[in-house]
Amino acid sequence: MNGTMMEYPLTLDHLLDRAQKLFGGVEIVSRLPDKSLHRHAYNDFHRRARALAGALIAAGLGPGDRVATLMWNHYAHLEVYFGAPLAGGVFHTLNPRLHPSDIAYIMNHARDRFLIIDDTLLPLFDRIREHVKVERVIVVALTGKPLPDGCEDYEEFLRSAPDGASLPALGENQAAGMCYTSATTGRPKGVVYSHRALVLHSFVCAMADTLGISGRDSVCPVVPMFHANAWGVPFTCTMVGAKQVLPGPHLDPVSLLDLFESEGVTVTAGVPTIWLGILQALEREPSRWKLVPGMRLAVGGAAAPEAMIRGYDRFGLQVVHAWGMTETTPVGSVSVLKRGMESLPPDERYAYRAKQGIAPPFVDMRVVAEGKEMPWDGASLGELQVRGPWVTASYYELPEASGQFTQDGWFCTGDVACIDAEGYMKIVDRTKDLIKSGGEWISSVDLENALMGHPAVAEAAVIAVPHPKWGERPLAAVVPKEQAKGTFTPGELRDFIAPKFPAWWLPDAVIVVDEIPRTAAGKFLKRALREKFQDWKWEEGGQKSE
Ligand code: AMP
Repeated sequence: MNGTMMEYPLTLDHLLDRAQKLFGGVEIVSRLPDKSLHRHAYNDFHRRARALAGALIAAGLGPGDRVATLMWNHYAHLEVYFGAPLAGGVFHTLNPRLHPSDIAYIMNHARDRFLIIDDTLLPLFDRIREHVKVERVIVVALTGKPLPDGCEDYEEFLRSAPDGASLPALGENQAAGMCYTSATTGRPKGVVYSHRALVLHSFVCAMADTLGISGRDSVCPVVPMFHANAWGVPFTCTMVGAKQVLPGPHLDPVSLLDLFESEGVTVTAGVPTIWLGILQALEREPSRWKLVPGMRLAVGGAAAPEAMIRGYDRFGLQVVHAWGMTETTPVGSVSVLKRGMESLPPDERYAYRAKQGIAPPFVDMRVVAEGKEMPWDGASLGELQVRGPWVTASYYELPEASGQFTQDGWFCTGDVACIDAEGYMKIVDRTKDLIKSGGEWISSVDLENALMGHPAVAEAAVIAVPHPKWGERPLAAVVPKEQAKGTFTPGELRDFIAPKFPAWWLPDAVIVVDEIPRTAAGKFLKRALREKFQDWKWEEGGQKSE
């Protein structure tokens, strides 16, 4: 027997219409390139996103056609997030930090027909224009500079929408958005988000036991909207009617802290490198900013070091550690404490919070090694596999990547992990970042987190470097905090972390560097470090420290 309930599609138009009906006056604040603040409200957002949908249809957008974006986080990007899907099309976020040839490859592979772009990013587009077949280029004139030939003005494009144009009925399994993985090896791979996946993901991100985003919050996604939909935050905010604070291109610590203060931000989200910088700024000038007490910082994209979680607690700000991937829309686990864990000794609590956390409802997780599922004992390592309604079941038009999906319907993440008896998952490494020394595995993530626990260390990345005797040995690249330059020796850093690890885990070389190269998503680019140090000459006995 079936239930008697209606079939009601889980589509994005519902979120937008409801936001207009119930939260029409709630603000959306965007920082522009000149640092001024653009303000409008859900009423305007609703009207303009629908106008964009109408204008796209009038301009010839057909069902499923792709509307690419090259934009920072601001009101117009948000309008495309909804406007393109409401027209029956698909928004496709492009990462401006990628190499132009990769952007061109991605645009061609996705067959983007429209491009909506910030005027500040036009010089980047000029480098790829000849190599892509995009038909219309619509420019958001953020700086007011005149537009080059062959481009249309975004505001005029909105005005071209026919009055009272009706928008198509949407199905929940229809594609709404698209994003390519920022692959560190091989070609980028496309993931296509359905309306249903984005809606269900929004419900989960609003749960008190995940990111807990509510209509009372003021939410600032620092994570770019071109990186896994800014972790779905703009959709969740629209669903619950939260104030949205979009930081534009200004992602340095002082600009962000100013914005958090002036807009009363209560929830924010980004990769650890952003939060390491902000923590340093707070430590330098502890009383400069009045932040909302208990502000929550969702941290993911790379491991949140335990020392950083403790550091923010000292300022009354709460790190919420989460794990996810472009392929998982992206939230796949969140580290919140279960009932009773609040009263554990602090070290145990921090250890749980530094893990990547437990799966939310409808995400299944398992760890598999040599074809066998590993026990939840907190020690047995293997590849993390996941499944769920917002986990991709394939890559867009890339059958050769079918190896990442198992026969029994799981997605292979490429992350090496273990799961403890309470269900808390811990990422140990990317498969390719693990260090194999004398046949045994060493976790680069654990070493990095321990090094970043030293008060003089701003950032640390540990890589495997070929070694004649052991196969590979760990080498640590360390960036000192500004005020700590020259105040420590590499040997001291080794001594500092030594009590936490077996002796053979300790990096054989600790090298002080000015900066660690980053991926387009702001994570440590270990491949570049590996290339730099591949011919490193280990001293006799392998105990070099500088
Ligand atoms: P992306 O698709 O660019 O978001 O990258 C996804 C990858 O980032 C994952 O497969 C992990 O390797 C890594 N990642 C994401 N969140 C975390 C986390 N909290 N801790 C460690 N690694 C993470």
